[in-house]
Amino acid sequence: EATRGGRPSFAFYTEELTLQARHRLELGAALRLAVERKELVLYYQPIHDLRTGSLAGVESLVRWQRPVHGLVPPGEFIPLAEEMGLIDRVDAWVMGEACAQMQAWRQRGVSPGFVAVNVSSRLFGGDMLLPRVEEVLAQTGMDASLLEIEVTESAIMDQPDRALAQLDRLHVRGVRLALDDFGTGYSSLLRLKLLPLHKLKIDQGFVRGLPDSQGDRAIVLAIISLAHQLGLKVLAEGVETQAQLDFLVAHGCDLAQGYFFGRPVPAGVLFPDEPLAH
Ligand code: C2E
Ligand code: MG
Ligand code: MG
Ligand code: MG
Repeated sequence: EATRGGRPSFAFYTEELTLQARHRLELGAALRLAVERKELVLYYQPIHDLRTGSLAGVESLVRWQRPVHGLVPPGEFIPLAEEMGLIDRVDAWVMGEACAQMQAWRQRGVSPGFVAVNVSSRLFGGDMLLPRVEEVLAQTGMDASLLEIEVTESAIMDQPDRALAQLDRLHVRGVRLALDDFGTGYSSLLRLKLLPLHKLKIDQGFVRGLPDSQGDRAIVLAIISLAHQLGLKVLAEGVETQAQLDFLVAHGCDLAQGYFFGRPVPAGVLFPDEPLAH
């Protein structure tokens, strides 16, 4: 028993762990039901073209509208969904919802250009990505070129060969691929060369220090140059200030997203319904 032998701190520690484990179990059980109960919601963040200044596309970002608890951010349930083997269902729902929303916008003539969807490494491992993409495109009738899949370096490094095979097939299909959080994962430049990428997304950790931090300036300039030399588009994440934006524009960054342009918002906030004509 934990309290015996004069180790109350140990007892406290196990109690804490038990609480944590219980919380996780509870959260996990609730999450399992969340997809069926339609508790997941998609928010959309604008992505701007820095050459024209106009809207180039949107990134879809999932939230969990949990009854009583309120809106849960993805950082609090995506890792759990991955551990519990639920992420496939979450990502599959997200992809269907994002493409259906995109089609609805297009039918109203307010197309945001493209819709980006984040995909977890689990989908690569299970070979489920391509079939799901095909299914969603068939169901929604959306053009493949309007869909962008965002993957992280670590997602690819989990199963490099399988990931590469699926990404190649998506590329042939016309779906675009973006490497998310670039610079934070571990990958080789050799691997980068082999990936059928359309875009590099510079992680917000490097954008935050612009334009003052010499280290961040050097890294961002190197990534912009690398992307362009590889024939890729480059996007800066987490742009919050005019000074950051000015630096990025001056150095030829193609695209940007961040609170400076707009936070992630529900579809109806991004493109409000037209007022009724009277
Ligand atoms: P991410 O794909 O890198 O998404 C960017 C994150 O940065 C989003 O957080 C966004 O709200 C936040 N962000 C955007 N602009 C700014 C800014 O100017 N300043 C700051 N500080 N933050 C900004 P969010 O929505 O909490 O998502 C976090 C992560 O969760 C995402 O990072 C992505 O890795 C993951 N995620 C989100 N939706 C999904 C999904 O549907 N499936 C999967 N597998 N992962 C998802
Ligand atoms: Mg992303
Ligand atoms: Mg990112
Ligand atoms: Mg991220």
